[in-house]
Amino acid sequence: MNAMIRVEEALKNILDAVSPLGLEKVNILDALGRVIGEDVYAGRAIPPKDNSAMDGYALRTGDTLGASEETPAILEVVEDIPAGSIPEKRIGPGQAARIMTGAPVPEGADAVVRMEDSRKEDGRVAIFVGAKVGQDIRRAGEDVQPGEKVISRGEVIRPAEVGMLAALGRSFISVHQRPLIAVVATGDELVDLDETPSPWKIVSSNSYSLAALVLDCDAMPLQIGIAKDRREDLIAKFRAAMRADLIVSSGGVSVGDYDLVKEVMKKEGNRMQFWRVAMKPGRPLAFGALGEVPIVGLPGNPVSSMVSFEQFIRPAILKMMGHANLFRRTVRARLGEDINKKSGIRHFIRARICREEDGYAVVTTGDQGSGILKSMVRANGLIILSEEVTKVRAGGMVTVQLLDDSLDRMTEPGY
Ligand code: AMP
Ligand code: MG
Repeated sequence: MNAMIRVEEALKNILDAVSPLGLEKVNILDALGRVIGEDVYAGRAIPPKDNSAMDGYALRTGDTLGASEETPAILEVVEDIPAGSIPEKRIGPGQAARIMTGAPVPEGADAVVRMEDSRKEDGRVAIFVGAKVGQDIRRAGEDVQPGEKVISRGEVIRPAEVGMLAALGRSFISVHQRPLIAVVATGDELVDLDETPSPWKIVSSNSYSLAALVLDCDAMPLQIGIAKDRREDLIAKFRAAMRADLIVSSGGVSVGDYDLVKEVMKKEGNRMQFWRVAMKPGRPLAFGALGEVPIVGLPGNPVSSMVSFEQFIRPAILKMMGHANLFRRTVRARLGEDINKKSGIRHFIRARICREEDGYAVVTTGDQGSGILKSMVRANGLIILSEEVTKVRAGGMVTVQLLDDSLDRMTEPGY
């Protein structure tokens, strides 16, 4: 009999076996969602020059003292400065330049007065307000100073960071590589989508749900296909998987199994351990390495393999991609029904969680059998009941691990 271990212990073993992958240079748009591997310092000021925040007139504040609509300051317009052009004239006393938003402020001027506070006259302008020094001027470097650190390594690149990198003139940056994750299904009862199904065969849905989970982590699946329960085929498929950064298999690790998968893992693999994890679903789990590539053998049942992936593989993949936050968000929610369970095992119960007036409400998605994939299809979270709990009553509060971002979006704008 294999040892029974806690979820935390299995997780720690697996996380300890993986480390962040090396860096690669990618285009800033391809960096979206990736973890940056360098500190980014500004090589230039943003904005590069003092420029106008308004369409209006660049002028000297001293010329507008006490100006009003009744007693405007009349200034000579010496130049027109559209955005993107270089001012040619210095603004002297009694002078102004017509200036557009974003255009560099000419020398001599110390403020911009917006168009609405002026009236254009022939070759001159009437200014209706007394301007303050610096008014409507965006200062050089007010956003970013040269040499300032704007992005730190380890941060996740979002659209704002992409914009900042572009503003600094950076088209490529270093990010952690995306791992290649091999997905191997095992079982004589399995067929792939392109094979003619017979009534006693089932489609290897795990090949697809697990590959989709890999994609959902922003990693790259390597579809190895189905290994028949035969030594040579298992060995061939496992060897083909060894060019990946991590191997995930499904099936053939539970107690009652035809022992070939475990036998081949033991013989071909290194440091293989076969655990009974104190969790439901997903109790059996194999872990070791093929060569130096870590391998996790997930249980075969469609729900078990997905739930185990969520608990063990997802955090490992995120760690490989350089992320600091490896785990799905959990929230506390009000339970809508009674649940009974055995003690000693942590339960991950498929559930539907939604927003309530003040907090969240959660119900189970029905039949919790580990072969009931529909319970996952309906679920957007997993109720997590700890080992010692034996019952929770309707109305009680439970912890729910969110499986997607459905709670991040709303039917109405929140303002
Ligand atoms: P096993 O752990 O190999 O005994 O598999 C347990 C059960 O999970 C099997 O009886 C299959 O019905 C199911 N199963 C195993 N592998 C897959 C797969 N790749 N896709 C869908 N179901 C599977
Ligand atoms: Mg099997």
